[in-house]
Amino acid sequence: MPPLTDISDLSGKTVLVLGGTAEGRALAAALADPVVPPFRVISSLAGRTREPLRPAGEVRIGGFGGVGGLVDYLRAERVDVLVDATHPFAEQISANASAASAATGLPLLVLRRPGWTEQPGDDWRRVPSLEAAAALLPHLGRRIFLTTGRQGIAAFADATECWFLARSVEPPTPPMPLHLEVLLDRGPFTVEGELRLLRDHGIDVLVSKDSGGADAKLVAARRRDIPVVLIDRPAAPPAAVLAGSVEEAVAWLRS
Ligand code: NAP
Repeated sequence: MPPLTDISDLSGKTVLVLGGTAEGRALAAALADPVVPPFRVISSLAGRTREPLRPAGEVRIGGFGGVGGLVDYLRAERVDVLVDATHPFAEQISANASAASAATGLPLLVLRRPGWTEQPGDDWRRVPSLEAAAALLPHLGRRIFLTTGRQGIAAFADATECWFLARSVEPPTPPMPLHLEVLLDRGPFTVEGELRLLRDHGIDVLVSKDSGGADAKLVAARRRDIPVVLIDRPAAPPAAVLAGSVEEAVAWLRS
């Protein structure tokens, strides 16, 4: 990664972490550590979940009002570094962060966990979108475990020949598939738990975004010889610095 050239010492500087992910929380915890060196950390959450897991340090909740609103916020809070630690599928806020960085000249660090890699024994079908996943399902099975998150469920509303078990943190809203059971739950999940869930519901296909990170559901699908429909990540917007882990991000910020 290129060195941070425009800020020589970040002690006491303000870092805005666009979060809503486990990585965002881990980064905020690492940066808010009072021992070395004291950053001011503000985490920003979209406000999609009613009881979000709160990151360490300051937290603000809700949209900024587009790129202009984000630029205003960065200036008002005298932010020194912007970190985009949002989910790889949160395209809009990442595009806004990139545009706001360009408009203000603030350094932008994008923290993205790597996507998953197929292992021996896996039966994966990679597709470019939720819609492509829905179109493929009737050719693969009838009892589908849908782990695309609440906002991804609507894309499967027309797949009337399939039965769905959809897991999400918040209840989904219409449109929804006709044959749907919703499981409200939040990770982390264990391989044993995922195996039980696949067995108890007679699941024959797993659908997931290529989010990366904890992969208990993928291990469980491999063990049960269940095909996985994996939705490819959207292209990441241009960023000066890309970190693949919280440790890398912290090292860059402290360097
Ligand atoms: P999105 O489509 O990229 O963003 C839509 C709008 O929501 C943005 O333009 C922004 O509103 C607001 N927003 C999003 N993230 C924000 C944040 N961290 N802080 C303040 N405002 C934010 O986002 P999304 O896909 O709905 O995801 C929303 C949040 O959930 C993200 O923070 C993401 O990390 C998390 N998440 C998403 C997924 C997923 O699959 N998409 C999965 C897990 C977690 P304004 O334009 O008004 O600023």
